[in-house]
Amino acid sequence: IMKMQKAVEDEQKPLTTTALANNTTNVKAAFVVLVRNSELDDLRSAMRQMEDRFNHRYNYPWVFLNDADFSEEFKAKTKGIASGNTFYGKVDDTMWGYPEWIDQDKASDTRENMKEVIYGDSESYRHMCRFQSGFFFRHPLMLEYDYYWRVEPGVEFSCSVDYDPFALMQEKDMKYGWTISLKEYEETIPTLWNTAKEFMQKYPQHIVPKDDPGSLLKWVSDDDGETYNLCHFWSNFEIGSIKWLNSPAYLDFFNYLDQNGGFFYERWGDAPVHSIAAALLLKKDEVHWFYDHGYFHNPFRQCPREPAWVADEKCLCNPEDSFDEHWYSCTPKWLELTGKKRTDYLVTTRS
Ligand code: GDP
Ligand code: MN
Repeated sequence: IMKMQKAVEDEQKPLTTTALANNTTNVKAAFVVLVRNSELDDLRSAMRQMEDRFNHRYNYPWVFLNDADFSEEFKAKTKGIASGNTFYGKVDDTMWGYPEWIDQDKASDTRENMKEVIYGDSESYRHMCRFQSGFFFRHPLMLEYDYYWRVEPGVEFSCSVDYDPFALMQEKDMKYGWTISLKEYEETIPTLWNTAKEFMQKYPQHIVPKDDPGSLLKWVSDDDGETYNLCHFWSNFEIGSIKWLNSPAYLDFFNYLDQNGGFFYERWGDAPVHSIAAALLLKKDEVHWFYDHGYFHNPFRQCPREPAWVADEKCLCNPEDSFDEHWYSCTPKWLELTGKKRTDYLVTTRS
């Protein structure tokens, strides 16, 4: 009963933040971009928008990671856009490669048999998904930060962000933030949920009990945990806690999945992996929908439905194009599960 009362009280708190519209914050945070040299132009476009919409007032640093060496041109043309410091890291084979328990012939057969599935035949995509699932947050360049904001080449940020999302996360002790949700292709993750269920059996100490009012199990399962409903947060946009990802709970989860081999014998994406982790390990109040962020990653868009925002030049997007009410989106389910309205996610600043 105490717990439930706490949940009710939390829900009644308005979503305000003391983070003002200038760089008075001291959150230890950075943008993180895994990227190839060949994606430089698309990256510059995304960076330009991030800087214009948000970061020119905050000057957070940018961390670029790559499994190859960054070119001098890449460094010069990203440093030139960034208002904060830039760091360039190489990802070595401890984070991008086959662990010794993986049967590489079996992995290769899988790729042969998955040609019909999106990225099903790609080896590098699998290394990428495993890296994003289990390693970017412990790359040496990332360890000094508390929060990260993942950015990808080619994405668009179409609304001005006049508060500091990192400060909001820190102030509310939130661990994971997202903009777009949807359903995963089942062919990429046939045994992911069963593996997650084994993890729940083996590590009950990490799991939010399903009768806890904060439980997010229903976000990923429509039948009380029996099967996965394929809902996930689209991980190309994430604002998250580095400490959470480095916690024993998350690392035990990742290691358990990694031992199973599904990153290579299937084609597990980092989006369902992060999302299932959030659903099992975090409570409702620790996960935030950045409803008020305009965002586009091909082919889906998030555009806030606030009538005045387009006219007020806060956003350059059309709410009618927003994916959040689409039948394939899981966001309506999120709102139902959390008992929230869109407007509950509008962040207002106060001094
Ligand atoms: P999608 O969003 O699922 O279609 O996948 P992307 O191709 O956008 O890849 C996701 C992220 O990982 C992007 O930021 C890419 O730039 C990056 N990425 C994907 N594959 C590689 C790779 O082989 N090397 C590097 N350095 N980055 C990669
Ligand atoms: Mn992408």
